[in-house]
Amino acid sequence: MSQSTTDPDTSGCIERVTEDVVRIPLPLPMPDLKVVNAYAIRGDDGVTLVDPGWANAESESILVGALRQLGYVPGDVRRILVTHAHWDHYTQAVKWRREHAATLFLGREERHTVEAFDGLQGVYPNQVRSLRRAGANDLADEIERLELGPHERDMAVGPPDIWLGGGEEIDCGGRTIVAHATPGHTRGHMVFEDPVDGLLFTGDHVLPRITPSIGFERAPDRLALRSYLNSLHFCMSRSDERMLPAHGAVSDDVGSRVEELLVHHEQRLKEVLGLIAAGAETAYDAARQMLWTRREKTIDELGTVHGMTAVLEVIAHLELLVTQGLLQSDDSGIARRYHAA
Ligand SMILES: [Zn+2]
Repeated sequence: MSQSTTDPDTSGCIERVTEDVVRIPLPLPMPDLKVVNAYAIRGDDGVTLVDPGWANAESESILVGALRQLGYVPGDVRRILVTHAHWDHYTQAVKWRREHAATLFLGREERHTVEAFDGLQGVYPNQVRSLRRAGANDLADEIERLELGPHERDMAVGPPDIWLGGGEEIDCGGRTIVAHATPGHTRGHMVFEDPVDGLLFTGDHVLPRITPSIGFERAPDRLALRSYLNSLHFCMSRSDERMLPAHGAVSDDVGSRVEELLVHHEQRLKEVLGLIAAGAETAYDAARQMLWTRREKTIDELGTVHGMTAVLEVIAHLELLVTQGLLQSDDSGIARRYHAA
C-alpha cells in the first residue's frame, strides 16, 4: 500500500493502515497543532490503543465512534501504549485507564515530568529559568505571565500501570509490540514497533512535517539533543519500516524522514557554531540571528511560545557543542555565555 490518500488532518476519518491497524485522527484543543493520531491495534483479546489523545469530550466521542466502526466499545480496550507524557498523547489514556480498566504503559523516564507536574507553578516554570539563563529576559517575562487555558485545567496526569524501560515485548492479543526507548523529544519517549508487519509507531520522535521540539518538558535532560540524535540513529536501523507518526500522514519508510532530521540538526549545529565564532554570546543572541520554520520567520515573528521553543532549541545545540569540545560556556554572569574552545 502506498502513501495515505486521505487528508491526514481530518479528525474522525479513520484510515486502515493494515488489516489489523487503524489510524484514528483526533482533534486537539490547541491553536496550531490541530490533530493527534491515535492508533487501534486489533488483537484476539480486544483492542490496544497507541496515544489516544487529549482528554476532552469532542475527542472522546470521536474515539468512541471510531472504535464502534471497528466493532468495539471502550470496554474492549485491553491496553494503552503511550509514547510520552505530553497531554495531547497521555491525558485521555489516563482517563480511560481509570474508566475502562485498560492497562496503561508509559516510558519510565517520563516519571520526572509526571511527578513534577504542579499547575500552581505556572505553565512553563523550568523554561522561564532556561530563558533567563539564555539572556532572553523579555521572553521569560512573557512566558511567566501565561496561565493555563480553560482546556488545560484539571487534566488527569499521574503514573501509568507499567513503566517501560525499553526492550519489553508486549503481548497485544497475539501480536507482539516491542517498546524502544527513544529519549530526546522527552526523556522517556518510546517508539513502539510491530516487527512482523514492519510498523514503527514513532510518536513525536519522528514527524513528517514538523521538526520535533527537544526536551520540552517539566524536568528536561541537559543533553536532550544528544539523546535525540542517538534515538534517530536507532530509527535508522529500522529505516525500511513504515512510519506511523503521532501527527500527520503515515508513510512507507521511516528512513527518509530520519535522514532529513539528521541533516537539519547537523546544519543547525554548524550555524550556531558559526554565530558564536562571529560574536554572538548567548543562546538568545544566536536565536535572534536565525530564521525559523519553513517560512523562515525571525524569532520576533514566531510569537511567545514558539519563540521560547526556538531559544530552547538553540540552547540544546549550544550545550551539545560544549560537550563535543567545540565551545566553552561561562556562568560568571546572569546569562550563560559561550565562546570558541
Ligand atoms: Zn509531544
